[in-house]
Amino acid sequence: MSRLDGEPASVQALLAGELDDRFIAVGDGVLRPQPTASGWYRVESRRDWPAQDRPMLVLRTWTASSMVLWRPGRAAAQPRATIGDDADLGFSASLLTLPLEGGLAAGEPLYVQVTIPDFAAHVLSIEPEQALRVADQRWVRGQSLVNGALLALALAGLGMGMALRERNLLLLSGALGFSLLYLLAGSGEFYRWPLLASLAADLRSPLVFAANGASLMIALFVRNLLDMPRNTPRLALLQWPALLVFASGMVNALVFGVGASARLWAQVGNLNIVASSVILLAACVIRVRAGDRSIRLLLWSLLPLMVLALWRVGEVLGGRALNPTMSMLFTLSFLFLGTILFIGLVERVLQYKRERDAADTLARRDPLTSAYNRRALDERLQAAVLESRSGDRPLALLFADIDHFKRVNDEHGHDAGDECLREVARRIHAALRIGDFFGRYGGEEFVVGLPGMSVEEARNVGERIRQRVAAEPVRFGSHVLRLTISIGVAVLQREGESIDAALKRADQALYASKQQGRDRVSVL
Ligand code: GH3
Ligand code: MG
Ligand code: MG
Repeated sequence: MSRLDGEPASVQALLAGELDDRFIAVGDGVLRPQPTASGWYRVESRRDWPAQDRPMLVLRTWTASSMVLWRPGRAAAQPRATIGDDADLGFSASLLTLPLEGGLAAGEPLYVQVTIPDFAAHVLSIEPEQALRVADQRWVRGQSLVNGALLALALAGLGMGMALRERNLLLLSGALGFSLLYLLAGSGEFYRWPLLASLAADLRSPLVFAANGASLMIALFVRNLLDMPRNTPRLALLQWPALLVFASGMVNALVFGVGASARLWAQVGNLNIVASSVILLAACVIRVRAGDRSIRLLLWSLLPLMVLALWRVGEVLGGRALNPTMSMLFTLSFLFLGTILFIGLVERVLQYKRERDAADTLARRDPLTSAYNRRALDERLQAAVLESRSGDRPLALLFADIDHFKRVNDEHGHDAGDECLREVARRIHAALRIGDFFGRYGGEEFVVGLPGMSVEEARNVGERIRQRVAAEPVRFGSHVLRLTISIGVAVLQREGESIDAALKRADQALYASKQQGRDRVSVL
């Protein structure tokens, strides 16, 4: 293969072979940017391609490109482009293909005009159609899988981040969203979506916008997760220029389109990715060495993406063609990062919530009986009163007091008394429905809340509790303790009665039970 130095005076002269001495050998089939890879190429095959192999001229590309093929002795030029009327939608956007009708003889020249808007190197080759289609299908399958998974992770991160108010999840979701956009723009598929293609003033703009966006979000995510301003303040300061360059790259691509300054933006952007990666990795390493083990997960999930991104930057800046295996690994490294970090973050959030719930439980429960303590009971009663008023449903209360409990302590010891309190609490709990609640009001006194119950229903519940306490003695070591309990019932009155007044009536009913000989349930 060889490249024409400059532009041809006319296509006729080109096809007649008059300009062949102005072609400079390229050799390996790689179109290198100098300053762009666009231009005129002369391609010939060293071997014969019979027509039944259906050979095709193939340009491996990213972003939207186009090429026109001329063959000496044939009338019509054959155009091909990633998008528009000249696109072949039978192939993915990563390939521009033109059939070489009737095969190709060894040494027969092909003249190709190539237009490529980016600055990476591209490979031009001749391949049989069947093998090309098989490889393209495989590529599309892999891409769809990765893109779909990235979209799912980004949406899940967005939903969970909003529900849990977790900034890290929102930043991760943003990073994954921009990564998806970057992969779509980078594989050319972006331009096959009619609306998206028309949005892009310049076909390179979506790629530059998404690359800067993904880099910015990843940098912000790591900054936030590591709390860099506090833990590594100097690196955090150093990160500012990188963040600003990413942000201005995005704004510029979005508002103005990269246009004539595209090459500058690409180089600045790529160098900025290198700088940002070095800062982020340094911050991770410092945190790990300071003994923060939770950062290891971040480091390991980040490392493949960083290494492969740096590899790609090296390929682009060095004018080498993209290595297909490394490209696939690069794509997969986004998914790897997203999956690991998503699981890690969700686990962290859940752990935090579990600890908070445990602390909450500790603060609200009586340590001896695990019933609500007095404070929590008061809160629960207040809430039940509000529910009762707004739902116009009754609220019944039981006031329960163990009979002759002082005697238990005196005759069997304080530990036996404690065991009785625990056992009575278990038996009360066993007699309640879901939605009922009870707490330890004082020493051996319990208050039960029964939302929605009438006096009669509440009396039945009280009776059940009384029977359960009396039925079985409590055993503690060699001690067998026969217990009874007295209960008073009251229902919150409709005319705006306070919970204190209702409790007082329940206590009066309890007093009546005690007066009438204990081990009974009374309603005032
Ligand atoms: P009554 O039938 O009239 O209720 O008689 P009583 O002995 O139960 O009367 P009172 O309410 O005066 O006694 C309550 C006793 O409960 C006093 C105290 O020794 C005991 N008590 C209170 N809290 C605890 C506790 O946490 N553990 C133990 N073991 N005993 C407690
Ligand atoms: Mg008592
Ligand atoms: Mg008492």
